Amino acid sequence: MKQSVPEMFGSLVFNDALMKEKLPKDVYKALHKTSKYGASLDLDVANTVAAAMKEWAVENGATHFTHWFQPMTGVTAEKHDSFISMHSNGVLMEFSGKELVKGEPDASSFPSGGLRATFEARGYTAWDPSSPAFIKDGTLYIPTAFCSYSGEALDKKTPLLRSMEALNDSALKMLKVLGREDVTHIDTTIGSEQEYFLVDKDMYMKRKDLLLTGRTLMGAPAPKGQEMEDHYFGVLKPKVAAFMHDLDEELWKLGIPAKTKHNEVAPAQHELAPIFETSNIAVDHNQLTMEMMKKVADKHGMACLLHEKPFEGVNGSGKHNNWSIATNKGENLLSPGKKPYENLQFLVFLVATIKAVDEYQDLMRVSVASAGNDHRLGANEAPPAIVSIFVGEDLERVLKSVAAGKDLTQGSKSEEIDGATVLPHIKKDNTDRNRTSPFAFTGNKFEFRMPGSALNVATPNIVLNTAVAEALDEMVKMIEAAEGDDFEARVRGVLKEVLDDHKRILFNGNGYTDEWVEEAGKRGLFNLKSLPDAVPQLIVDKNIELFEKHNVFTKEEIVARYEIYLENYAKTIHIESLTLQDMVKRDFTPTLFRYMNEITEEVLAKKQVLETLGTYELSVLTKLNDASDAISAALTKLEDDTKKAEAMDDTLTQAKFYQEVILTDMDALRAPVDKAESLIPAEDLPYPTYDEIIFALR
Ligand code: ADP
Ligand code: MG
Repeated sequence: MKQSVPEMFGSLVFNDALMKEKLPKDVYKALHKTSKYGASLDLDVANTVAAAMKEWAVENGATHFTHWFQPMTGVTAEKHDSFISMHSNGVLMEFSGKELVKGEPDASSFPSGGLRATFEARGYTAWDPSSPAFIKDGTLYIPTAFCSYSGEALDKKTPLLRSMEALNDSALKMLKVLGREDVTHIDTTIGSEQEYFLVDKDMYMKRKDLLLTGRTLMGAPAPKGQEMEDHYFGVLKPKVAAFMHDLDEELWKLGIPAKTKHNEVAPAQHELAPIFETSNIAVDHNQLTMEMMKKVADKHGMACLLHEKPFEGVNGSGKHNNWSIATNKGENLLSPGKKPYENLQFLVFLVATIKAVDEYQDLMRVSVASAGNDHRLGANEAPPAIVSIFVGEDLERVLKSVAAGKDLTQGSKSEEIDGATVLPHIKKDNTDRNRTSPFAFTGNKFEFRMPGSALNVATPNIVLNTAVAEALDEMVKMIEAAEGDDFEARVRGVLKEVLDDHKRILFNGNGYTDEWVEEAGKRGLFNLKSLPDAVPQLIVDKNIELFEKHNVFTKEEIVARYEIYLENYAKTIHIESLTLQDMVKRDFTPTLFRYMNEITEEVLAKKQVLETLGTYELSVLTKLNDASDAISAALTKLEDDTKKAEAMDDTLTQAKFYQEVILTDMDALRAPVDKAESLIPAEDLPYPTYDEIIFALR
């Protein structure tokens, strides 16, 4: 019998309900009391939890367990151990509290940015009991944080948890000032909409560029792209529908609340949106979602591309990070309610977020930087590289009221603004329109649209949580220092002052225009176009101070991450360069020469019977020959420059060189290749063309 969805949902998760059922009361309680992760868990408690977990896992077919973590590579890592242990009377399935709480993967090959010398290679993983364990492929997965022996974070999870703590502390302080002693805990929530491409697996396997770098490095554009806009929200092709159906089920079993699925703008592009969850769980779930997408696609004879820009000429893929703050009273702090202007608490958290994003706009940009995402940002298909905030017309009126010190939002005719009838409360659909904005208020949450599709969303949330924590701290101080007997007037005074200082970040217009780039420059906003432009901001004083003050990163941890950004970037483009060279030399030019030879023989043969040479053949031959010469020159330059790049010592100089020189060289090589490709019969080419790969799925 097929399981119903409620039966299926979370069936492979050792969730809270199961723990409550399977654990003695005192153990269950003790577990709930432990802080966000690992270390301080009592060993007796851990032993009892481990035993219950193992029993459940074995009942459900598991034979192994693994600590599951998110090193700075951006993907997840795992090392499987079986439960078996040898006893005199045979093999037993065992799992101790120690094994649950702490793991020691041989971690010497994970990037550490110099934090951990290879001679002290061991890092350790510590259980994050707030994210439940689950079963996948016959293995019990235990979500963990990954640290060095001296306690430095080597992953993305640890700083995320620290940033959640920081925001919890600061938000509670602010709520207390606002008289909300009843709230004892806040959590940040995330819903990350995930875009991806699906292509035929056989075709994928035939393209070295897709296989090795995740994106096509050459390829003439298909005669048809996305200009007909016939794919967006279109009918799902049967193969895609079957994939999505299977994917939903796999995700539901893992307790991942997959909710919405549809076709995206580009042909072969799709999106999945989950229901939002607490940040650390949402991050785990997004990582798992990406993994399951690849796995399920493979089962269906397809490949799932998560790269930000798999194909030139059609949209790339992003990941919208919907973010808000929820209290333990079940209240959304960014929910405006019916009368937002009167809702002091909403205004405080709204204005604090505006202040945070303005003050740390550079960090927000850094948090989404990757070689892949550089192809999207500012390319008029995704938000520009300039960070700004869109609040929508209704909320803008509310903010104007705050600035004016009186309510301009009430709908009486005499108080109409700009001739428009003013609406008393925020209409959700009014806020979602501006798709060009990087950071948009969408009803009761902010939607950060700069993240790329492959990103671990922990990164932008670390920045956002910490920056908002800092803004709240400063606003608490301002409120406490303000003069006057009327508390509300004091708070409103602070809101006005903060808004005045940070209103430059607010922009409701079209972010794709040149006028905005110019205007943003006048406003003093950052325009950090590429990763090497952006990443040095990570280590400027104000940003190091921010992270240190809120115990999210030490200076050493930030410097390590700075190095890893640059190293990853250089390595990525280096591999792309080598792959392109290889494809040109070993796949493309042999085909080109063969085809030129074919035409030459045809021309010579014709010449024996005809008086005049065929002008069309000759023109094709000439074009191919010109392309061949251009390819030769561009290839030599790319080869030489790549060798130069590889020999560079300073990571920033090197990354800049890859960005400025190597990427340009690659484009210069690609151009004649694409030109020649469009003259060669598709069946002669050693790899599938754009039109085949983008439009082939049925
Ligand atoms: P759409 O953008 O299609 O209108 P929604 O705005 O309802 O859809 O949601 C988009 C994403 O935002 C979903 O993943 C949803 O779960 C998430 N989301 C909704 N409310 C919140 C919230 N309070 N915090 C974080 N994410 C949220
Ligand atoms: Mg969205």
